[in-house]
Amino acid sequence: MKSITKKVLVTGVLGQDGANMCEYLLRSPGCKIFGMIRRSSNPNFINCKKFIDHPDFQLVYGDLTDEFSISKLVQEIQPDYFINFAANSYVGCSWDMPLQVFDTNAVGVIKCLEAIKSFQPNCRFYSAGSSEQFGDVDYSPQDMKHPMKPRSPYGASKCAAHHIVKVYRESYDMYAVHGVLFNHEGTKRGEEFVTRKISKGVARIHNKIRSVDNWRGRHGDAAVFNPIELGNLDSKRDWSDSEDFVEGIWLMLNQEDPKDYLLASGETHSIREFVEKAFKTVNFEGEWEGEGVDEKYIAVGGKHKYVFVKVNPDFYRPAEIDLLLGDPSEAKKGLGWKPKISFDNLVKRMVEYDLHAKT
Ligand code: NDP
Repeated sequence: MKSITKKVLVTGVLGQDGANMCEYLLRSPGCKIFGMIRRSSNPNFINCKKFIDHPDFQLVYGDLTDEFSISKLVQEIQPDYFINFAANSYVGCSWDMPLQVFDTNAVGVIKCLEAIKSFQPNCRFYSAGSSEQFGDVDYSPQDMKHPMKPRSPYGASKCAAHHIVKVYRESYDMYAVHGVLFNHEGTKRGEEFVTRKISKGVARIHNKIRSVDNWRGRHGDAAVFNPIELGNLDSKRDWSDSEDFVEGIWLMLNQEDPKDYLLASGETHSIREFVEKAFKTVNFEGEWEGEGVDEKYIAVGGKHKYVFVKVNPDFYRPAEIDLLLGDPSEAKKGLGWKPKISFDNLVKRMVEYDLHAKT
């Protein structure tokens, strides 16, 4: 009989990080994964397709807003690790539903910690923190000493989670860590997030132009398509690939003593740069024209002056964060972790995936 050494409860497995963590852990034997999803009338299992039928993976139901469901899972499974990725993770909508965001992202973490404390105190817990905790930054790159100055209900909810994890760790001697993670993306990223919106938009436009026209204009009518609509093009973010980060999270959970770390690439790029690189992946050249809400990214070098991207002020945030840039040196030193996938490669992977995606 095969021996299972670790039972791992992972929440948010239909999302990006949860699914990548399951793939990462199932690559080596020895883990039985319990992947928590909440009840939905129409769940989307696309991110789980590689492992949903794996013999060491089991779907379980629970909801961070329901403490009984969390306690029941911890009591029944007796996990060795509890990795909590479940959250309302979209910063933009956190102004529209601040209570729901706090209930899930902050109070939900207390429910996890309480369940562990009561039913499986030796379980190691990971809480998913965010660079949005730093918000209105004082200096760059940001490190773990940077003050918390969130600019959104989402950022504030993650700060609350950070504090409560520390309180439980120190009060009850629990192995609980809160990783502060800068933006991480990839082919499983939700479609409302700006990077995926761009990669899917580039694929859609490319496939449209290729199907009815020729880019250099030798023949064909202009293709008809809607431009990609974006908010603030000058926001700068520190982007990595989620597949790199799940490895860092697992290292954080397997230290001798629990300590919080920050994971980042150490580079920052604007949304404007992401757009340019994404179009270059399909060999489409463009240039920026106009200013502010009238700014557009227009095709150059072809027969037609296609508008690839336009600004839509509906996507501006009530309070913007202009620049996020993380300092990953502590994680390199303490965990031996560093990201492997470069920014250029990340953009390329996302666009190429969407070019060939069936949906
Ligand atoms: P996703 O939005 O892709 O996944 C979040 C998952 O949480 C979804 O599957 C969602 O379920 C689930 N969820 C939401 N509410 C509940 C609830 N009440 N009970 C149970 N499950 C729930 O996020 P990511 O994978 O990108 O991020 C993982 C974590 O890391 C999140 O906590 C996020 O805030 C944090 N983070 C992410 C960053 C990033 O750049 N990706 C950066 C910093 C932090 P459903 O599918 O049903 O909607």
